[in-house]
Amino acid sequence: MILEDFLRYVKIDTQSDDASESTPSSFKQYDLLNLLQKELHQLGVKSEIDEFGRLYAHIEGNNAYDSIGLCSHVDTALECSGYDVKPQIIHNYQGEDILLGISGLKLSTKDFPHLKKAIGKTLITTDGTTLLGADDKAGVAIIMDVVRNVLAMKQSERRPLSILFTPDEEIGRGPEHFSLEKFNCKYAYTIDGSDPLHVSVENFNAESMDIAIHGKSIHPGSGKGKLFNAILLMNELIDLLPENMTPYKTEGREGFNHIVSMEGNVELARAHFILRNHDKEKLKEQVKDFERAKKVIEEKYPGSIIVLVHKEQYKNMGEVIFKNRDCMDTIENVFNKLDLKLEYTPTRGGTDGATFSFLGCPCPNLGTGSYNHHGRFEFAILEEMELMSKIVTEIFRL
Ligand SMILES: [Zn+2]
Repeated sequence: MILEDFLRYVKIDTQSDDASESTPSSFKQYDLLNLLQKELHQLGVKSEIDEFGRLYAHIEGNNAYDSIGLCSHVDTALECSGYDVKPQIIHNYQGEDILLGISGLKLSTKDFPHLKKAIGKTLITTDGTTLLGADDKAGVAIIMDVVRNVLAMKQSERRPLSILFTPDEEIGRGPEHFSLEKFNCKYAYTIDGSDPLHVSVENFNAESMDIAIHGKSIHPGSGKGKLFNAILLMNELIDLLPENMTPYKTEGREGFNHIVSMEGNVELARAHFILRNHDKEKLKEQVKDFERAKKVIEEKYPGSIIVLVHKEQYKNMGEVIFKNRDCMDTIENVFNKLDLKLEYTPTRGGTDGATFSFLGCPCPNLGTGSYNHHGRFEFAILEEMELMSKIVTEIFRL
């Protein structure tokens, strides 16, 4: 059932659009939202799609308990087309390299060691021309499966369930217009990760840093000791930053400074960085590194002007979750009951759940059994999606 749902959802193109100012950013996201509403209706579950394209639904349970929420996003990433997705299904996978249709691309165990986990299982891949859209339609299919499982329980024997399907997660606008009142739950889980045994209760703290350097331009023939070339000053400033703090050199809980763009001429050079760290204090240190570098350059080249503007982008949800541990206790109990080993893995990015957490709804992220998101090498493992559905279903069983 979960496979049929998943295949039906990935065939609907729901790519979001970062150039659009409308909400949702692309109206084709309604194609899936409307279908989900219809399917919920057929199961006897009432839902509301609000004017911002957020679908909210509720399933009553034993009202001595607070409702718990589940959230997935319906849009797919910008990096790769999600139009006319033609999934390949490989039953009883034997660990060989997989040709993606006739595209010439190959999913190999050498490049993607995760594939080894899928031996003997059912794999769903792309045909090499599009992404798969398992991010996050695997999450959507898991939630719909959980809905059926929960409805099969007696009302007195289940916890109330709140559902939220959002558009525009991939362009960072998923939490826009979020209504805790409509979601109406004590805490929630986004189902938007990869490995089913990995739970994320932390994401990065994030800042942006813009640098503008005003140099001093005079005729280069008589520039000795007087011409401050803004481009060269920018290079020097960047050289003063910690050398090992780049995405290329960091993993796990290590933070980074990532230069995203740079442009300039002799008079004016600009650079845009993003700064990331799970630890708030260490992120402050990263900002100070930029301030120290600015001071060094300004002192070395008197009269040059350097402007730094840093802005908070999002915060680590761990700050909220560690003070409201019910959502962790619940998922830990489920893993114990099912005799599974839970691993907490910090997300190296942001999550919609971070914003929900700071708006009063603590929201860890759970896996979907899908990997290599945002591109043509994306794949899902059916048995892992089924395991995730089983785990999430147990959250609601009293
Ligand atoms: Zn996602």
